Amino acid sequence: MVDHLANTEINSQRIAAVENCFGASGQPLAVPGRVLLGEGILTKECRKKPKPRIFFLFNDILVYGSIVINKRKYNSQHIIPLEDVTLETLPDTLQMKNRWMIKTSKKSFVVSAASLTERKEWISHLEECIRHLLTKTGRQPSTEHAAPWIPDKATDICMRCTQTKFSTLTRRHHCRKCGFVVCGDCSRQRFLMPRLSPKPLRVCNLCYRQLLLTQKQSSRSQNQAVSPDC
Ligand SMILES: [Zn+2]
Ligand SMILES: [Zn+2]
Repeated sequence: MVDHLANTEINSQRIAAVENCFGASGQPLAVPGRVLLGEGILTKECRKKPKPRIFFLFNDILVYGSIVINKRKYNSQHIIPLEDVTLETLPDTLQMKNRWMIKTSKKSFVVSAASLTERKEWISHLEECIRHLLTKTGRQPSTEHAAPWIPDKATDICMRCTQTKFSTLTRRHHCRKCGFVVCGDCSRQRFLMPRLSPKPLRVCNLCYRQLLLTQKQSSRSQNQAVSPDC
């Protein structure tokens, strides 16, 4: 589709310009075969509030970052391999329109575009790239993805016990498994989820029990697999 652009001067210049904007805070982006397809500002739903972020769509990765000076300086670069991405369109909320979720195994988040047409274009371009990559590698679309974090403002009380009221002294925490906003008492446990991190992560009590159960079940079936005689 766009492979004929891969070795053109204009493509190299555009990628170099993106690298320049991120400066030392970013990774090198020029890789043989990589094509920059487009860029734009999307609103990303973050923990505290929605924030504008600059997004660059390449034929194999999606790059985004914070805007220091538009078209000049960006930082906090994130690189998402498109092979790992699935998309889900979401209904409008009172504050946010034209939303969709970008889901990956490590992290999932919600973005919104300025118009419905813009959302349509982003989604169709993203999906075309993902399809192209999966065809090339023969991989299946990923089915497992990290739960997106529910924004802090979405709730004043713990979403597990529904008793604890949050305040300046009573902090909000996030379960890394379900993404719910929970109180300290409801998220005392840590669990190792290698897909997300090499360190055990905070999980809510409900997810902890479910994760333990799944772990037990899978180790039991593994034991059965190695000792078929008993
Ligand atoms: Zn609680
Ligand atoms: Zn949870």
